[in-house]
Amino acid sequence: MTNKKDNIASSTSDPVDSPPPYTPLPSQSREVVPNESTRLYPDVPKNSYSTIPTPTYNPPNPPQQSSVTAYYQPDTVVLSPAVSIFDLRAQPAVTCCPYCNQIVLSKTSFKIGSANLLSSLGLFIIGVTMWGCCLIPLCITDLKDCIHSCPSCGRNMARYSRIEGRVYSYGE
Ligand SMILES: [Zn+2]
Repeated sequence: MTNKKDNIASSTSDPVDSPPPYTPLPSQSREVVPNESTRLYPDVPKNSYSTIPTPTYNPPNPPQQSSVTAYYQPDTVVLSPAVSIFDLRAQPAVTCCPYCNQIVLSKTSFKIGSANLLSSLGLFIIGVTMWGCCLIPLCITDLKDCIHSCPSCGRNMARYSRIEGRVYSYGE
């Protein structure tokens, strides 16, 4: 068994020993390689240099442009299409001012309306009068009417009534 392994090892070692004879060959290849290299360089550079530089110069520029545009995107405000002042609700909205006829984003303010008064009256009737608790609904913004004013001319355009769910125009 050991003899077989030795044979295999010796057989594998034989090719390892054989390479040394190749040492004289490089002297022949040295004479050949310079000729081949000088023949290859004039042909290769014409194709390789013309194609390689252009892809390397292009990539750096697009990222810079895209990064610049990315910084401008947050500044742009996406506005919904203008709605009629009668479609206004309790949030600022884009509408056409009936006074200056400009498309504006309405400014909102809140005033005590019917919803506040009826809520307070209901609490008063129920008997919640201790420490003026029946007046608390007057301070609740979600019950107040929403007044839409024009940021351009400063006039009040419309009032959104919470309890009625409709809009009253100040122009009428
Ligand atoms: Zn206006």
